[in-house]
Amino acid sequence: MAKRDNTLKLKFDSARKFAPAPESRSAAKIKPKYDLFINGKFEKPLSKKYFDSTNPATGEKLSEVADSSAADVDKAVKAARNAFNSWSKLPAAERGKYIFRIARMVQERARELAIVETLDGGKPIRESRDFDVPTAANHFFYYAGWADKLEYAFPNRTAKPLGVAGQIIPWNFPLLMAAWKIAPALATGNTVVLKPAETTPLTAMLLAEIILEADLPPGVVNIITGAGSTGAAIVNHPDVNKIAFTGSTDVGKIIEKAIAGTDKKATLELGGKAANIIFEDAPLDQAVEGIVNGIFFNQGHVCCAGSRLYVQESVLESVLRKLKDRIETLIVGDPLDKNTDVGAINSKQQYDQIMKYIKIGINEGSDMFQSSCTLPSKGLYIPPTIFSNVAQSSRIAQEEIFGPVLTIQSFRTDDEVIEKANNTPYGLSAGVWTDKGSKIFNLTTKLRAGVVWANTFNKFDPTSPFGGYKESGYGREGGLHGLAPYLNLV
Ligand code: ADP
Repeated sequence: MAKRDNTLKLKFDSARKFAPAPESRSAAKIKPKYDLFINGKFEKPLSKKYFDSTNPATGEKLSEVADSSAADVDKAVKAARNAFNSWSKLPAAERGKYIFRIARMVQERARELAIVETLDGGKPIRESRDFDVPTAANHFFYYAGWADKLEYAFPNRTAKPLGVAGQIIPWNFPLLMAAWKIAPALATGNTVVLKPAETTPLTAMLLAEIILEADLPPGVVNIITGAGSTGAAIVNHPDVNKIAFTGSTDVGKIIEKAIAGTDKKATLELGGKAANIIFEDAPLDQAVEGIVNGIFFNQGHVCCAGSRLYVQESVLESVLRKLKDRIETLIVGDPLDKNTDVGAINSKQQYDQIMKYIKIGINEGSDMFQSSCTLPSKGLYIPPTIFSNVAQSSRIAQEEIFGPVLTIQSFRTDDEVIEKANNTPYGLSAGVWTDKGSKIFNLTTKLRAGVVWANTFNKFDPTSPFGGYKESGYGREGGLHGLAPYLNLV
């Protein structure tokens, strides 16, 4: 058995200097202040208020963004409503060309977008550069292609756009979530009011610049910044026809209540607590690599993160040893350094939340193992953390932590692990690692999760639908399925 060591000891290295970042900070031309993007123009907020956007890796202020009031939301919704009439009647191939142009311009500004994403959110530059930005561009390309093919997507049906889509996105994949929301809305002929999260508004503002430069008709896409109250004003606006929300289950429930009894349509992509399951016949080294990626990618700020590991009993000791060895090699630190594996925690609020759960795990009596890496003395960092000897009913196995924290349990039979994997309020994703195709088939049909990955994890493609069961929300984004929630299908 692993030595029991449950003391929480984070090591900080005050002498450690950040190595000169290969990705230069200066390549990101961040403006000191961003106004609201409404009706094809950058406009000062009626509220006259702004708030700071900071770099969680250093605490440095990056820029100021507008704090939209209900009156600002109203202005944006009116612009979107006015634009809807002509946008929805534009020949579909023309709409496709605009979306295609956005995709190309995201590619052209890829380096800058990646640096700003990393500065504003804390994620490793390797991830912003190789995942977030190219996947965002791919979403625009993919839905550009659908714009003039909707009759093939829904044969023998009339497909009409809903109108104004209010889109509220989280801070973990800011640019990518904006692309997930905006691309299918435009392809189907809707207009948009989008609000990025308050801790990561900057790439959305760069996207607003791109949309301006792509010459989209004014009002088709409006991007406004603000906190939860701005989001609530979008949700409650009577002239918004559809809400597309990605964020916490708590806020998802508030939104559901707010729109109950209205004719607003909604897509809610909420929290998760994914099971990643290793069978004894799996290629273990490959599986451990997938487990590490599944939970430590983007510091575990991922709704579909593989945060619960289930290992078949006969290989538990071997997997635990391999996992600990691998975790020790992960580089935690400067997000702008291309060698960094685990970057900064996105906000102080999220840092406190994760630390709270680590203490809960210790108090619940599970065995904790943390990487012995030294953390930069400045900024918000948490070392990769795993808990073994975890009870199924424990809070760390049931509740979403949204950080670099993995729970580990063992199992003997297929039925036992299916029962355990399904035993949380969530149902967003799951992973299965085995050599046997029959096992994969058995589990994918029985796991209550919107996405099940087999011998891989965290793979995303615009062609694949994504979304949850249970308290992970409803509706699908991506693929053909991602079009329907923006259409009235008769
Ligand atoms: P987290 O708890 O992980 O920060 P949230 O669900 O609070 O995630 O935030 C996701 C998005 O929802 C953000 O853009 C945030 O501003 C917005 N938001 C927060 N509260 C509300 C609300 N009551 N109504 C609408 N949007 C909200």
